[in-house]
Amino acid sequence: MAAFEGLTSRLQNVFGKLRGKGKVSEDDVNEAMREVRLALLEADVNFKVVKDFVAKVKERALGQEVVKSFTPGMVIIDLVNKELTELMGGTTSKLAKANKPPTVIMMAGLQGAGKTTTSGKLARLLQKSNHKPLLVAADIYRPAAIKQLQVLGEQIQAPVFSLGDQTSPVEIARQALAQAKANGNDYVIIDTAGRLHIDEALMEELKQIHEVTKPDEVLLVVDAMTGQDAVNVAQSFDEQLELTGVVLTKLDGDTRGGAALSVKAVTGRPIKFAAMGEKIDSLEPFHPDRMASRILG
Ligand code: GDP
Repeated sequence: MAAFEGLTSRLQNVFGKLRGKGKVSEDDVNEAMREVRLALLEADVNFKVVKDFVAKVKERALGQEVVKSFTPGMVIIDLVNKELTELMGGTTSKLAKANKPPTVIMMAGLQGAGKTTTSGKLARLLQKSNHKPLLVAADIYRPAAIKQLQVLGEQIQAPVFSLGDQTSPVEIARQALAQAKANGNDYVIIDTAGRLHIDEALMEELKQIHEVTKPDEVLLVVDAMTGQDAVNVAQSFDEQLELTGVVLTKLDGDTRGGAALSVKAVTGRPIKFAAMGEKIDSLEPFHPDRMASRILG
């Protein structure tokens, strides 16, 4: 995957050296871990996360007596794979489902992160499992957001609820829920506004929407290309809104995606989906184990 190409080739390099050896010494393990640490830091994984990660793998590597193993390289690769999987959440985290429909999903994030696009993609994904999502245009500030959501809705033939840009987003969300109930939509996806930076007015509005709609999911849309800022953004949103999950977008981009991998470790919120392109079908449920294997190449 483009966002992790650098990391993949660095790690393959480290493992390549180990694979060739029939036996490794404690020094070899230390050297390999030093290189893994550098590879992760270079990929922009949060430094505290890296420190923790390397300490755990090292402890296990020495504890499992890698040095006595006949395939020490494989043992270390396996340990890194497992720890990387853990770092990204361990197991696949499913979308919540309300006891009584509709299930309400609130999308949050900074402007440009991919909220509107991801709302459309998520609706598409739900349709594929025979659900009837309603998209809600509650971003009334970004001039093109409503139109953009309507175009996406048309493309996938999903209804879009909009009251234009003169009604408050809280009221839009309230009426949208009523409409979903009346029309039998079992999922409601609320596309909220973002700002270029986190600000109080934005958070206040999101909190109000939260209060009115009592969402089953609050998904933070995080642009994987934004580096360490992604982690700070996730922390701030989480403090204010109690996120239930994260969607990583733009994993197809060629910037280092390591920061995004730190989001779970820092906030404790699971990554539920990953987006890898601009097309409507480019959203996938996030599987930590598969992602770890892809990163390790
Ligand atoms: P919003 O302001 O958060 O609603 O962001 P948008 O949904 O308008 O997305 C901002 C830009 O990012 C658009 O040009 C999208 O096409 C693009 N985008 C969103 N997700 C992805 C993705 O996974 N990969 C790529 N390459 N572009 C994306």
